[in-house]
Amino acid sequence: MKITEHIAQAQGETLFSFEVIPPVKGKSIQELYDNIDPLMEFNPPFIDVTTSREEYVYIDRNGLLDKKKTRMRPGTVGICASIQHKYQVDTVPHLLCGGFTKEETEYVLVDCHYLGIENVMALRGDAMKEEKYFKPTEGGHAYAKELVAQIRDLCGGKYLHETITAADAANFCIGVAGYPEKHLEAPSLQSDLKRLKEKVDAGADYVVTQMFFDNAKFFEFVEAAKDMGITIPIIPGIKPIAVKRHLQLLPQVFRIDIPQDLIDAVEDCANNKAVRQVGIEWAIQQSKELKDAGVPVLHYYSMGKSDNIKAIAGEVF
Ligand code: FAD
Repeated sequence: MKITEHIAQAQGETLFSFEVIPPVKGKSIQELYDNIDPLMEFNPPFIDVTTSREEYVYIDRNGLLDKKKTRMRPGTVGICASIQHKYQVDTVPHLLCGGFTKEETEYVLVDCHYLGIENVMALRGDAMKEEKYFKPTEGGHAYAKELVAQIRDLCGGKYLHETITAADAANFCIGVAGYPEKHLEAPSLQSDLKRLKEKVDAGADYVVTQMFFDNAKFFEFVEAAKDMGITIPIIPGIKPIAVKRHLQLLPQVFRIDIPQDLIDAVEDCANNKAVRQVGIEWAIQQSKELKDAGVPVLHYYSMGKSDNIKAIAGEVF
């Protein structure tokens, strides 16, 4: 079922969902299941599975280093299919512009359709670790909006090199990313919102936001999006702080602000166990306020560990 249908069916009740990361190549999928299992009691209608950019590895060949590009956490679509099969919930594979040609994207979409995956998240992806700026892959897309357009075209039977009419054509529900504190490369929040509107106009069905720690920023973003004519559901993304280092890391990587009260509480912690508890409590307060405000879904970034998400969901749902 589509995310938008889940939201409509919930008739104003806030739904619970979360995002998981594929295991490192060669590792068992069991660890992923062990982290999903405890969250199933909160009835997530859908689970997102991220896609990682490829990275460079150096292979020692008799003293000479051979530089190769590889994806350390492949398997997004396979994991989506396994989760759908095992838990009977919908899954949302993240599709990236970076690292994929348009042809490869088309094949992934065909796979998704065969596997009964009805939702996809269309993202540009970040720059590779070794690069300062995002460089479009040769034969791929430069912006998420173009990826949305390709997916929408395919749903209408317009493939890259031919038009195919089929009775059971794919009909994906498309999510895109939104940034309450603007995307790090955008010159202003207003210009970033214009870009978001372009993704909506290209055919996006819903938005999931980047993490934020101050709900006021989310509420302002939703209002500004409405003023821009964006009327599709906007789902807040919540990440509980888990280690002290997040105070530097999250603002550095995502260019987001952390409220002073949260900084103080984290800095007062004697160890990371205490920090994890502070993160849980902050996320509970955030979640309760967002739920009271009637957000369609609370979407949690689990980063592969579910104990804190379970503690939050237990208080909120
Ligand atoms: P876009 O919408 O293409 O925007 C990128 C930047 O370009 C923005 O600054 C925008 O304002 C600007 N822009 C857009 N169009 C134009 C234009 N025509 N001309 C000039 N500027 C333009 N990353 C991963 O690698 N894997 C994941 O699984 C993943 N999941 C994510 C899930 C969520 C909910 C979110 C919020 C992010 C996720 N990301 C993921 C990170 C995301 O890939 C990065 O934030 C990326 O840098 C931007 O992606 P986007 O889809 O927002 O890009």
